[in-house]
Amino acid sequence: VNETRYSRNELLFGARGQEQIRTTRVGVVGVGGLGAHVVQQLAYLGVTNFTLIDHDIVEASNLNRLIGAVQRDLGRPKVEVAQRLVEGVVEGAAVTVRQESITPDSASAIDDLDVLFGCVDRDLPRLILTELCARSQIPYFDLASDSGEVGGAWYGGRIVVARGEGCLHCLGMLDQEEIRRDSLEPEHLEAHDAIYGIEADALEAAGPAIVSVNGTVASLAVTLFMELITGLAPPPRCLIYRGEQRVLRTLADKPAADCFYCGLWASADHLV
Ligand SMILES: [Zn+2]
Repeated sequence: VNETRYSRNELLFGARGQEQIRTTRVGVVGVGGLGAHVVQQLAYLGVTNFTLIDHDIVEASNLNRLIGAVQRDLGRPKVEVAQRLVEGVVEGAAVTVRQESITPDSASAIDDLDVLFGCVDRDLPRLILTELCARSQIPYFDLASDSGEVGGAWYGGRIVVARGEGCLHCLGMLDQEEIRRDSLEPEHLEAHDAIYGIEADALEAAGPAIVSVNGTVASLAVTLFMELITGLAPPPRCLIYRGEQRVLRTLADKPAADCFYCGLWASADHLV
């Protein structure tokens, strides 16, 4: 048996599948608690071309879950920690880092990518990434972990794989009020809140965040990516993990018809 770095991968999806993974250009937006797991697993899986985007720096409260970060990384850009993670696994990896936020003008950041992962925690960047990917006609994996302790502890997450047959918008998974608030300039935000009030869940909340729950959601997403890229199986439009219920299921809901974003994807003829 010829043992190589990827020989155990290839026993599942073949040398051709491994080559498809190697040549897929992957972007990850948000390399915090969720995204760092994704980046690490993609590197081990054999992805060699990364674009990593995150404006944030490492803070003390991240160190319970930020894969690859050590104590002395406090204050360091998260993209640099993620880059080091990749380069430690994949010699000669092509890693582009952008320490910036996603805006509607970020199209150039995702140019030349084949797949994008969104591992962000606000719905405005989720919507922007949905539109950018739809316009670029590349698959968009949106990851979310969620947890809380109201009515007993609950924890889990979900992955939406958008590529023209359902997205965050037409599956009704975006909080329009949160998007509206986050879209406003600070001076308009004050006036908006004075008129409409503030919904508690529209505010930036620092809820529970657990390394193993993030790792589970990230592992599920990377497995769906592997299935899509190697041709093992088509991904579901949404996979849901409910940890406290011991449940993993696909979303039964059908997307709303005539989705603007899915329409942009549907005109593609070169989706993976
Ligand atoms: Zn849609």
